Amino acid sequence: MKRLHGQCHCGAVRVAIEGIEAADLPLRACQCGFCRRHGAVWTSHPQADVTFIGGRLHNYRFGHRQSDYMFCAECGCCVGAAVEIEGARYAIVNITGVDLPGFEGRTPEPWVFDDETPQARAARRKARWSPVDLMQLQPS
Ligand SMILES: [Zn+2]
Repeated sequence: MKRLHGQCHCGAVRVAIEGIEAADLPLRACQCGFCRRHGAVWTSHPQADVTFIGGRLHNYRFGHRQSDYMFCAECGCCVGAAVEIEGARYAIVNITGVDLPGFEGRTPEPWVFDDETPQARAARRKARWSPVDLMQLQPS
């Protein structure tokens, strides 16, 4: 199975997605104020394993403060977001922030999540986000 590899601008934080081809991964453009400011385009899939490797991270929480939006502490790229739900970790990858190849020419689907309850949000993330390993990543 093909692995997709991306990294932040300085290369300190790398990401791999394994299990699902790029063509079969969704592309979501969340319309919240944070994601619009970053031009973030997200992907994840419950059958695609995500690994973040190396680098020092800066984490940012907002809204319901359940998930960590992760930035390379060196170059400032937003590489993804991770959340812990019932002891398991899930993540999404910002394909713009890690310059992930394989998505060229596709238009991300706009999503609005403003009206979700915290319970609905956790259920959605559990169903759609990827299982994740955060290897050697230390919050700054
Ligand atoms: Zn970096």
